[in-house]
Amino acid sequence: MASSNMRQEAIKSIATAKYQLNRVDFRNARMTNVFGMNVFSEEVQRARLPKPVFKALQRTIKHGEALDPNVADAVAVAMKDWAMEKGATHFTHQFQPMTGLTAEKHDSFLSPDGQGGAIAEFSGKELIKGEPDASSFPSGGIRATFEARGYTAWDPTSPAYIVENPNGATLVIPTAFLSWTGEALDKKTPLLRSMDALSQQAIRILKLFGKNEVKHVATTAGPEQEYFLIDKQFYYARPDLVHCGRTLFGAKPPKGQELEDQYFGTIPERVLACMSEVEYELSKLGVPVKTRHNEVAPSQYEIAPIFETSNLATDHQMLTMEVLRKTAEKYGLACLLHEKPFAGINGSGKHNNWSMSTDTGENLLNPGDTPHDNAQFLVFCVAVIRAVDKWADLLRVSVASAGNDHRLGANEAPPAIISIFLGDQLTDVIEQIEKGGAKSSKSGGLFETGISVLPKLPRDAGDRNRTSPFAFTGNKFEFRAVGSSFNIAGPNTVLNVIVAESLDYIATELEKAVKGGKTLNAAIQELLPKIIKEHKRIIFNGDNYTEEWHKEAEKRGLPNHRNTVDALGVITRKDIIDLCAKYKVYTERELHSRLHILAENYVKTINIEAQTMLMMGNRMILPAALRYQAEVAAAVNATKSAGVDNAAQAAILKELTVTLTEFQAALARLDKAVNHHAEGDAYQHARYMRDSVIPAMVETRKLGDALECLVADDLWPLPTYREMLFIK
Ligand code: ADP
Ligand code: MG
Repeated sequence: MASSNMRQEAIKSIATAKYQLNRVDFRNARMTNVFGMNVFSEEVQRARLPKPVFKALQRTIKHGEALDPNVADAVAVAMKDWAMEKGATHFTHQFQPMTGLTAEKHDSFLSPDGQGGAIAEFSGKELIKGEPDASSFPSGGIRATFEARGYTAWDPTSPAYIVENPNGATLVIPTAFLSWTGEALDKKTPLLRSMDALSQQAIRILKLFGKNEVKHVATTAGPEQEYFLIDKQFYYARPDLVHCGRTLFGAKPPKGQELEDQYFGTIPERVLACMSEVEYELSKLGVPVKTRHNEVAPSQYEIAPIFETSNLATDHQMLTMEVLRKTAEKYGLACLLHEKPFAGINGSGKHNNWSMSTDTGENLLNPGDTPHDNAQFLVFCVAVIRAVDKWADLLRVSVASAGNDHRLGANEAPPAIISIFLGDQLTDVIEQIEKGGAKSSKSGGLFETGISVLPKLPRDAGDRNRTSPFAFTGNKFEFRAVGSSFNIAGPNTVLNVIVAESLDYIATELEKAVKGGKTLNAAIQELLPKIIKEHKRIIFNGDNYTEEWHKEAEKRGLPNHRNTVDALGVITRKDIIDLCAKYKVYTERELHSRLHILAENYVKTINIEAQTMLMMGNRMILPAALRYQAEVAAAVNATKSAGVDNAAQAAILKELTVTLTEFQAALARLDKAVNHHAEGDAYQHARYMRDSVIPAMVETRKLGDALECLVADDLWPLPTYREMLFIK
């Protein structure tokens, strides 16, 4: 009898563990006071800054005006005083390097005063610019070694905040990260650039509608985060979860998600306690968390905020992931943000709700109540349709990663084919506009922009078509192909730039027509049908899972990049380079660097997975199977010597031995594939990983999982799917 292994220890201890669940004093905490208490918010700024300084800062934040450097010193002093009153000893410029994570280096406020004492200092210069030693962040070739340093630049549109730890607090200043030659080394810079680009073009359209008072249009994002929570002890007993974020082995459990008893079900108490603390901590940081619920898969959950400008939403989303991970630990849980932690049940996404909103408070994707407002809504809506069709490739690549490949392109929603769900009513309107334009008929029934009132469009309750990668949901679009571990900056940057291009095109056409003497309505009535005709192939309201849709999409000529490697090639295509350069979102060099980094990232991810698989296969699964084989062999021998018929037991030994032998061979092939020196650049290397290493991994897993179903349960070292998903 083998002594108990880590897995058995884990189960025993989970069954008996007591957790301290009431860590937050909700009865006495006034949530309205808690919200934003650690944020250098507008309210704090107003209270602490001299009036002219406050006004100048607000102009930058709200209207995107350049910041007057003289203002910075005054802001820095106020920020430091506020932070120190809250116990902060250090400040950090936080940035979002292309690793997809966040990075920070802490500096103390204290400096020696030259007389043996110390003074607290924080200047405008330190607020505005930092120089982290950032030579080990990926730059994809942008930064030669002689200019290894990049610098961080304060982003005043995202407020500074304080992060507490058990022994102190740090003032965190959101920043952009650039090379000395001005190239973006991060994800925030392109996002800010893309927001500017969209604002400029949207304003041109609004001018045509007579809305001259609008000075700035911001894009908005509301990301719904899906994640798994499993017991930490199982997590630590699974090297694949620790190192890869997903299980590389694991046979199908007797119960999966087939009962559909989990979605919106009662949240387990330990999980609920954890969620509550997550929300409490996020509230302090000013993250407007709104909803929580059970998701479809067992042990899967979701947290969603109220939407904010894309920039703020991005920063808050990064915080949400961090707080989720940190807080889970305190409850003996591990938070899994990977797109596919478990095979055979749903993966996790991050639905990215997106819209555009004016500084006068108007949501540009909200159908209005008057014909005039409806016409405007339709112009913006059609601009999005055109953008998504024209640049579907780029949108696809913005959600490409090794992890997300297990969702997109696998048999799961949403598919890798980008299409738009509009719902029946809006589709009908769009079809009518198309016809109306074609025949320029004014006869009954046809919808005329600027003259007819839209039928009331139903607000999509979120579940009407969960299979679509890009859905109109009443007053916003929901991009559902984003992976759960993603920084949403990338997908939003792409959305913004492609819609900016579309708005530019439409504004140019309409301006021309109006200048030529047409009324705006006539110009719109002429232009929209043309655009719809050209781009309506992107609209699909049916079930995106089906084989028929895949065939139909191919017929329509919609791109289908089944995996990351297929998709990546798009980044440096001529039309993409031109698009990004025209709207000053990425330079050509920045795009090349991103291709390089994404390809490299793919290679590294697959490499780590393959190495982890070899380790687990050779040192955990193989030994367990060998021990069991010896046990069975001994039994077969014993029965044989006793002279009884042991054909059935011999059959077990045979099956086990055959599977074991095949498993060993698969491991050897995987070893050879992954330790083969690949030729060429990162992109070529990525292709090799996809074509040679991944198939070897798939084969190895199949046999490993077969062994799990053969080997005695008490010898099996790895927590099983059943245990990880259902023992809580
Ligand atoms: P559902 O998608 O289930 O219908 P909601 O419509 O309430 O749920 O919203 C889902 C997410 O979309 C939330 O994060 C919400 O804040 C966000 N959202 C709502 N309106 C907008 C908008 N104009 N721009 C961006 N996100 C939005
Ligand atoms: Mg939704």
